[in-house]
Amino acid sequence: MIEIKIKFLGGCDGIGKSAILVDGKIMMDYGLQTGGDDPFPLMNDCNHLLISHGHLDHCGSAPLLRKAKDVFATAPTADFTKLLLDDSVRLNEKENKKRHMYSTYDIDLLMSKLKTVSYNEEFKVDGYSCTFLDAGHIVGSSSILLKGDVSLFYSSDTNSIETKLIRGSNGFPGADVGIVESTYFGEDHTPRKDLEDRFIKSIKETIEAGGNVIIPCFAINRTQEILSILGEHNISPYLDGMGVEATKIILSHPSFIKNSSLLKRSFDNVSLVNKKVRKRIFDEPSVIVTTAGMANGGPVLNYLKRIYKDPKSKLMFTGYQVEGTNGRMILEKGLLRLNRNLVKIESTVEQYDFSSHSGDKELKSMVKRMADKGVNLFFTVHGDRENNESFVEYIKEEVGCEAIAPHTNDTYNVSIT
Ligand SMILES: [Zn+2]
Repeated sequence: MIEIKIKFLGGCDGIGKSAILVDGKIMMDYGLQTGGDDPFPLMNDCNHLLISHGHLDHCGSAPLLRKAKDVFATAPTADFTKLLLDDSVRLNEKENKKRHMYSTYDIDLLMSKLKTVSYNEEFKVDGYSCTFLDAGHIVGSSSILLKGDVSLFYSSDTNSIETKLIRGSNGFPGADVGIVESTYFGEDHTPRKDLEDRFIKSIKETIEAGGNVIIPCFAINRTQEILSILGEHNISPYLDGMGVEATKIILSHPSFIKNSSLLKRSFDNVSLVNKKVRKRIFDEPSVIVTTAGMANGGPVLNYLKRIYKDPKSKLMFTGYQVEGTNGRMILEKGLLRLNRNLVKIESTVEQYDFSSHSGDKELKSMVKRMADKGVNLFFTVHGDRENNESFVEYIKEEVGCEAIAPHTNDTYNVSIT
């Protein structure tokens, strides 16, 4: 009998702090939950760390794995990880006035152990042959295949829908066990073309009416997706916040995106914001792309302070707004939290679903394809409990495979006879 041991250390009930340990030695992701009381996954040393992509909920606690001998990631993921971890330390010191659980020294140590890998390149990790496959989620994002006596495929965050910036995930190599995300199970996305048309039309109407458009964006991937869409329609926005650095990183890895010349041209046409520019930015109707994507901090708050009373202006969210964020409160209650005061927002607020995750249809098709290629046991993660369990029901009933929605700290010994 041969066996694989899978331990779930986080990311089982909701989104945040994804961490999965294989055979007590190989960690797949070690994320951070932002905004929660308990931000870190369960502690567990490991020999090797595999980082699927550069989002904090997958890489944000990686510096805590001080005993890891090596770390593997694609080149863009390596750069994003450094960018996000540095920012996390800086923000923590500024807001909480105390030391983070890790320091910039720990970040440097982590980066010194990092080996970059290409998509579809096989490398050896503790008895497994490991391959990173394009997950289509953000630039450089990967699903991970561990091929051994028992083989495991971890989808991580994945998107099979092609976007302006990157291609969708493609192909599935076959494995015995699958760990799949369930983020958008039960919810389909608006077709991309319709979404882009509606988005551009709304921007043009606002500018023509003499208003300003604020577009809060996540720094990584979403900012560049939006810049590419705006660039294609000859709209030249202002760009402020961490999205500037993230765009430079992405442009330094042109082979990981679909159309680097479109992004390059779009980026060349943006006006980067400095103190002087910020003062005169509203002298005429303008479009501003800025962080943070959920309006919970960053330069977007400075802009909102200046437009929230203007009914001609518009705030256009470009992604999901998590419970407890400014973005969620604006959408649900029309209230904005500014300097500890709640103020009524009189500008128009819109939300566009530029998601970088597969929707319901794509998730269902993914597990069917995986089952066709030999997976007979699924674990569902990266969704709230209800989503993870609904996806389990679907897999059992419609795909005919065993499926489990694990809890944090659960360990499974999966054997094949
Ligand atoms: Zn992600």
